[in-house]
Amino acid sequence: MSQGTDQKLADVGVTGLAVMGANLARNFARNGFRVAIHNRSAAKVDTLMSEHGDEGDFVATPDLADFVQALERPRKVIIMVQAGPGTDAVIDQLVPLLEDGDIVVDAGNAHWEDTRRREKRLREAGLRFVGAGVSGGEEGALLGPSIMPGGDTEAYAHLAPMLEKIAAQVDGEACCRHIGPDAAGHFVKMVHNGIEYADMQLIAEAYDVLRTLGGATPTEIADIFRTWNTGVLDSFLIEITATVLDKVDVRTGKALVDVILDAAAQKGTGTWTVQSALALGVPTGAIAEAVFARAVSSQPAQRAAVLDRFGAVDVTPAADREALVNAVEQALYASKIVAYAQGFDLIRTASDDFAWGVKPGDLATIWRGGCIIRAAFLDRIKQAYEANPSLPNLLVAPDFASDVETAESSWRSVVGQAVANGVPVPAFSASLAYFDSLRRDRLPAALVQGQRDLFGAHTYKRIDAEGSFHIEWSGNGDEVSAD
Ligand code: NAP
Repeated sequence: MSQGTDQKLADVGVTGLAVMGANLARNFARNGFRVAIHNRSAAKVDTLMSEHGDEGDFVATPDLADFVQALERPRKVIIMVQAGPGTDAVIDQLVPLLEDGDIVVDAGNAHWEDTRRREKRLREAGLRFVGAGVSGGEEGALLGPSIMPGGDTEAYAHLAPMLEKIAAQVDGEACCRHIGPDAAGHFVKMVHNGIEYADMQLIAEAYDVLRTLGGATPTEIADIFRTWNTGVLDSFLIEITATVLDKVDVRTGKALVDVILDAAAQKGTGTWTVQSALALGVPTGAIAEAVFARAVSSQPAQRAAVLDRFGAVDVTPAADREALVNAVEQALYASKIVAYAQGFDLIRTASDDFAWGVKPGDLATIWRGGCIIRAAFLDRIKQAYEANPSLPNLLVAPDFASDVETAESSWRSVVGQAVANGVPVPAFSASLAYFDSLRRDRLPAALVQGQRDLFGAHTYKRIDAEGSFHIEWSGNGDEVSAD
């Protein structure tokens, strides 16, 4: 450890030493890098030094100018502060202290449009800006996160040896790849979080169906999830769900899940994902319904009013619990394939629109470890994109297509039983509707086009002729060319 008095310069600097930044700095130090550390309020520098200063080679620099001067050139500064104005404030202070070619990495949860703005600003100032998504929470930051860096390739080349060393490792591969230029890294991290919302909501719906229609207790459902965790659903989220369901509340002796207020909170990345999907015109119903489900849960007055007016739906329990368990496993798996298909489609669309060149197979590779959505299933997504990098939709990858075929009747049956018994399954239903919409020969969109033409002269195309057409609805009813 060092207090910043000797001359040897640091390999990297971390500013922002709340839980994420402190753990990331410790991760660098534990991996043999010399790390300069800084925080707006100096107390956090002291705390890190006193509690963990012996874990590696830290350079404590309470002053920002000293922090910058302590870094080897090109300087590599990692910002890990509160996203939004906090990040802008730190950048404003850093820019005058840095020199041409220095690299600023924002490893917080920035909105990708902020990253685009910051990247442009720093590029114009002769600096290099890398928006890097970091997943895995505080434990991931310390022990090995999944890292999704954007920015220019040359900047990444300077960062790669360090980032790839501190990232989670799966099968000898680092869970860190250069995602693409500009804001590609933060966009991908945002969609990762959107998929996480969908995955969690789908698991919650599976639990609700098993409990309400299957009559299973939380402990029994924990056992069911542990069994599922040995099959196609093997994932971190299924594993932790079993742990949560097994937990007994010490105050009441009841299952913890029965004493937690049923109002799900959110920090915003799910909403950003859906807003971006709407702006880019990409159908992501499973993710959107997961975000809305949290919003509905957090409307106590409306929930109470509707329950009071209509009462609860009478439930007819499933006759065969084992059959229900197997069907729900299939429904969950098929819906999960859809959630990932939608997330990957959103990333592909943004990548095409902004010329980011994101490789879907890389994402499946780096999400296999260190992040919340890590799952055995990602290996198969990786293989699907390796076999066909321009796969139009994950649903048609041969492996997944045959799994969906196997799951289809169970999927429909679970959604049908849930709807008949008043168990809300918005993400299961939205996933199935997406699948059905894509496979439908003719969609009622033709009727929507007719309506649009009638009230707004928005015109329509025909299936049997080129060009655009309009009906003289308020005239003689003839069709005219609108070209
Ligand atoms: P946080 O609570 O989001 O932010 C606190 C840190 O930001 C403190 O170091 C604080 O400095 C600094 N800060 C806030 N405003 C500032 C300003 N105007 N100027 C300078 N510094 C400022 O910390 P966190 O939970 O460790 O998260 C850090 C980043 O990682 C965030 O972008 C977050 O979204 C992202 N992230 C978090 C998680 C997670 O699980 N927590 C996971 C992935 C990503 P002071 O100590 O002086 O107040």
